[in-house]
Amino acid sequence: MKLYGINDMARVDCAGCEGCSVCCRGMGDTIVLDPFDSYRLTKRLHKSFEEMLDDCIGLHVAEGVILPHLLMAGEDAHCVFLNEEGRCSIHEARPGLCRIFPLGRSYEGGELRYFLLEECPKEGKSKVKIHKWLDTPDITKNQQFLISWHRLRGKLREKAAATPEKSKEINLLLLHLFFVQPYEKDADFYSQFEARYAEVLLKLSETEG
Ligand code: SF4
Ligand code: SF4
Repeated sequence: MKLYGINDMARVDCAGCEGCSVCCRGMGDTIVLDPFDSYRLTKRLHKSFEEMLDDCIGLHVAEGVILPHLLMAGEDAHCVFLNEEGRCSIHEARPGLCRIFPLGRSYEGGELRYFLLEECPKEGKSKVKIHKWLDTPDITKNQQFLISWHRLRGKLREKAAATPEKSKEINLLLLHLFFVQPYEKDADFYSQFEARYAEVLLKLSETEG
């Protein structure tokens, strides 16, 4: 599998997708949100995380860790944000996994890299620099955040597996600190995340006692 860095070119540019919405349908609970996705959505929708749970996001458990995902609706199981024209109604605030499609992420060796997925049916895609395709401001901070978030989830998975009796406590801590507890909307997201990251590591070490 070929892995790409953000400064590499890859054939992923779907030219605006032109009426295709394949990757916005039938995705089950796989469009998983990270804290930055959640922060961006709460700002865009003017809703709290808990209010979003009422109509646009759900929770699922993956390898012992509870995480939020976008909801699908209707007989064709389309994303709740797909509008009648088959376009994304929250395009500027779409989650990271939607931004990178048709790419997937790899964290092999502690480095964030991208690889091509086969699910996008669009033919004749053009080459584009991955950095541009991701359409994400503060890309360096965002990449550091993604690596930290990935590491933390791994740590929590291990912890939940090693101490199943503490799994609920650990998951509630994760959900509360990174999703339910509001972020200051006008302050830098990444520094708020780092402060919470340090807090969760401290609390995790306390649960070891
Ligand atoms: S958020 Fe937008 S891009 Fe992502 S699945 Fe939903 S409609 Fe598609
Ligand atoms: S499957 Fe490919 S062409 Fe279709 S909406 Fe998704 S990225 Fe665009």
